[in-house]
Amino acid sequence: MEEEFIISEDVLVSVQETFLDGVKCIKLNFKNNPPKFQEVDFADAEDTIFKKAKGFVGKSVRVIGWDQETNSKIQFNGNRVKDIVEVVHLIDKSSCLICGKTDNLLNYSEDFGNSWMHYRCKFPD
Ligand SMILES: [Zn+2]
Repeated sequence: MEEEFIISEDVLVSVQETFLDGVKCIKLNFKNNPPKFQEVDFADAEDTIFKKAKGFVGKSVRVIGWDQETNSKIQFNGNRVKDIVEVVHLIDKSSCLICGKTDNLLNYSEDFGNSWMHYRCKFPD
C-alpha cells in the first residue's frame, strides 16, 4: 500500500459525523487545511474511529492516507472527491519523552508515532 502524508502537521479543530454521497464519514476540520473526510466502517458499532478522532481535537496531528485514489468510494456531485481519505493515523507529537519540550523538531519515535523524542535527546553526542 502506498503511504501518503495528507497533512504533515496541523491542529485538529473539530470532528463531526456526517454523510457524503450516502456514505457515513467523519469530517475532520483543521486549523490551516481544508477539511478532510475519513470513511468509517458501518460495522464499527462502538464508533471507535470517531472517538479516536475526537480524542485528538485541539492537538497537533499528522494525517496519513493509504491508496487515496483507489480506496475512495465517495463521490460528490458525480466526481470522486480527492480530499476523501482513509485516515489511519492521527499522530499527536505532543512533547519530547526525554526533555519534555514541545517544538517542531520531534523526529524520532520507537512506537510507530504514538510518542516522540528528539533524535538528539535519544542519541546525544
Ligand atoms: Zn528532547
